Amino acid sequence: MRNRDLAGEYRATMPVATATPDPPDPQDITELVGQHTALIRSGAGMRGICPFCGSSAFHCRPAHNTYHCYGCGDGGGPHMFTTKIDRP
Ligand SMILES: [Zn+2]
Repeated sequence: MRNRDLAGEYRATMPVATATPDPPDPQDITELVGQHTALIRSGAGMRGICPFCGSSAFHCRPAHNTYHCYGCGDGGGPHMFTTKIDRP
């Protein structure tokens, strides 16, 4: 009596991990700004002292991943912030 299991030929098709690196995620604005100025939670956003002009009307909007300062009118995303903070 032979007990040949045909189902033994089951091939597992595991998804092969691609070696393609993920594109760099845009940095979290609050995390980025938080390295330069203290932020406190304010409603849906964060606020703090503007690292550019020193105004306390500096806001971060995590939902949009942007910052805006009502003092100097500066604003933008993480890339803009990095560019500005690196080159005063
Ligand atoms: Zn400012």
